[in-house]
This record gives sequence, C-alpha cells and structure tokens, in this order.
Amino acid sequence: MENLIERAANDLLHSKYAIALTGAGISTESGIPDFRGPKGIWTTDKEAEAKAYKRYELFLSDPKAYWEEILGFKGTYGRFYTEIRKAEPNPGHYALAELERLGIIKCVITQNIDGLHKKAGSENIIEYHGSVNKLRCVSCGSRYEFDEVSLENLPPRCKCGGIMKYDVVHFKEPIPLDVVEKSGKEASECDLMLICGTSAVVYPFAGLPRMAKLRPGVKIIEVNAEPTPLTYEGISDYLIQGKTGEILPRVVEEVKKRL
Ligand SMILES: [Zn+2]
Repeated sequence: MENLIERAANDLLHSKYAIALTGAGISTESGIPDFRGPKGIWTTDKEAEAKAYKRYELFLSDPKAYWEEILGFKGTYGRFYTEIRKAEPNPGHYALAELERLGIIKCVITQNIDGLHKKAGSENIIEYHGSVNKLRCVSCGSRYEFDEVSLENLPPRCKCGGIMKYDVVHFKEPIPLDVVEKSGKEASECDLMLICGTSAVVYPFAGLPRMAKLRPGVKIIEVNAEPTPLTYEGISDYLIQGKTGEILPRVVEEVKKRL
C-alpha cells in the first residue's frame, strides 16, 4: 500500500494534465446516504423510487406540478436532501482541492450532486449529474443558484425566457450537452486520471475512463474500497484499495514531500 501511495504521488508529479473522477464512495464518508445500498434511499422506500423514475416525464408534461413536487419533498427522498445540506466535505474532498491548488489536478468530474467539492475548495468542477444547489435552463443551459431565482411563479423562468428545471439529472433525462462535451474533452486530453470512490458502471460517465485508456501512455489510478470493473478489465493501471478519505491525504503528503 505504501508503495502504491508513493507511486501515485510520483505519477501525479510527472503528469502534465491530471484530472479526477469521483463518485458516491467519496461522499458516503461525509455521511451522505447512498441509493442502492442496504439502507439506501431506494432500498428502503420503493414509492420514492417509483416517483423518481417518473420525475423527468413529469417535468416534460407538467413543469408546474414537477416544481411543486421538487419543492415539497417529503419522506425518504426528503431525508437525502436534509442529509446533503448538513454534510461537510471530508479529508478526501480537501485532498483533491489541495492537488488543484498545487497545480496538479486540473479538473474534477463528479457524479455526486452534493456540492461538496466546491465546499472543500475545488474550483474547476464538472457536476456530471447536476447539483442540488442549482437550477438549469433547459433552453440555453444557464445555471442559477436557488437564491438568484424567484420561485413565486412556477415553473421558474430563465432570463432568456426558457423554463428551468432542477439541475439534478433525473432518471431517463439525458446528460446536459455542455457537460458531455466538457467532460469528453477533459477525458480525451488528460494524461492521468485519478478515479476516486466510483466503480464507473453507469453510462455515459463510465465511458470516460475507457475513452482516456484509448490513448497510449495515459495513467489511470483507482482509489476505492473494492476492486471495480475498471480493475478487472485492466482499464486502471493500479488500485489503491481503501477509504478515499484516508488514502488521498496520504497521496497529497507524498506529493508535497517531493515538490
Ligand atoms: Zn435560458
């Protein structure tokens, strides 16, 4: 393990354009519940799950009713949002922010919607599945924070006149085009990808490491509690197995020793 941490530090220092990919694993260490684990949001509340599956269709057919549902979250799904608002970044988030400040990590692409990378100080963040803190115009793609928008008349509208939806990407909703483009560009330009707390099985996000791997010489490092399909398929060069909140700060420590 020590060897792998040193190896990761060396690889990061020798990279020219390193990016990080993060998933639920980094957020569960901040106490954010998952959806499909034994005590997950969907596992314990099938009705909430069924509603979530229909949420995007509801937006398309009746945006006002959709917004009433979004603003009136109750029950288990409400628990998720309450937990998110209480959550604080953990040492894993801070370590990635530190690597960005050091000029090593150029971008964080996250599947998480909790906004914790920003809270931890990361700046160049692509929120692949949107953010709980934002609204998005479906016409022009502009994002707004909740306090910038009046929710008096539903659905809220953008300055361009377009209807806004919650920025969070729902089931069956396509990933916003700007996000697909930006993250595809990052994955095809990076020379190192640090994948933290995700098994990368949900597409299209899961395509990013595979896209990076197509170019020879690109280093792919995983930090995860368990081996993943990326490990088994040989997409990643190596896996540092354990908690992101413990491993990433040690990697940063090793990087700093070598600067
Ligand atoms: Zn707009």
